[in-house]
Amino acid sequence: MKNDRVTGQGRKVVVVGAGSVGATFCYALAQSGLADEIILIDRNEELARGQVLDLVHGKPFFPTVKIGAGTEDDYADAQLVVVTAGSAQRPGETRLQLLQKNAEIVGSIAESVSRQGCQGVMLIVTNPVDVLTCVALKRSGWERNRVIGSGTVLDSARFRYLLGNHCGVDVHNVHAYILGEHGDSEFAAWSMTNVAGIKINDYCPICNKCSDWKAERGKIEQQVREAAYQIINAKGSTHFAVGMSLLKITTSILRKQNSVLSVSVLLNGEFGLKDVCLSVPCVVSDGGIKKIISSPLDTEETVLLNRSAAVIKKAIDSLS
Ligand code: NAD
Repeated sequence: MKNDRVTGQGRKVVVVGAGSVGATFCYALAQSGLADEIILIDRNEELARGQVLDLVHGKPFFPTVKIGAGTEDDYADAQLVVVTAGSAQRPGETRLQLLQKNAEIVGSIAESVSRQGCQGVMLIVTNPVDVLTCVALKRSGWERNRVIGSGTVLDSARFRYLLGNHCGVDVHNVHAYILGEHGDSEFAAWSMTNVAGIKINDYCPICNKCSDWKAERGKIEQQVREAAYQIINAKGSTHFAVGMSLLKITTSILRKQNSVLSVSVLLNGEFGLKDVCLSVPCVVSDGGIKKIISSPLDTEETVLLNRSAAVIKKAIDSLS
């Protein structure tokens, strides 16, 4: 198959892992008109070629973009490398064994991206994303602002959707973040949540939609935490909303948009935490993370953030 690609030009995004998440993200990215070139890499080269062929047949219907299957040489001039490569859990395999396997996959990709002299940003998506962001950071030798995990951007989107739906308000009028681990210990930062610029504690009495809003909050938070399990049980994997979340992060990087997103970042004293990657609100722009917003969390949220950090650190320490 002829590769439809030009190297060294414009906004180039390399996606490693041509499975459900990687391919869905490429589809969204192609439609967005944001990138000049999209390169898809997979250890299963035939799969990557097949996904590319399927995508290029849509070219009459989306903005002009070069799309091709690539190799690690493509990292050199990429503005963004998105890592969705990983192994799925096999029957009988423990989560720890899977972690070890995915750490080796993501670690060697990060080394290769760095070896090729890439000057861009690396975005880690493969799970467990916080632990693997730490691994990619270490193996690449890059500075922390250029190695980002997709973290809880997806979970925050789910949270905003559920809250907007519950309050009967457009999701775009809801500002809210899920912080901490992208996983079971994540939590809703209610102290930072507002609807139409009104703090949630002041908004609930105005909204007056439910009799026990404290209980409703707990339910919504639980629904966010269980969303991935629910979707995976129903259809095997999640890929649409995560694809859109990756597009949002990509937009902020390629367009220097300075969006505040709950990406996973190595903390270096912020929030009183060190040597752990987890999600906190960050300003995301062309060089990756421009600023970590040290939001003043309340006492309970601080406890929950520390709990998330402990969970992630334990997993990092389990890696040999
Ligand atoms: P998938 O199994 O469909 O795709 C993974 C792909 O990675 C496969 O095609 C495989 O061949 C490829 N791969 C494996 N090792 C490779 C290597 N060394 N080099 C290149 N390619 C390699 O899985 P998926 O559903 O696309 O999910 C991908 C990852 O994203 C999983 O770890 C999943 O848990 C994670 N995920 C993260 C989020 C998030 O919000 N962070 C959300 C959904 C899924």
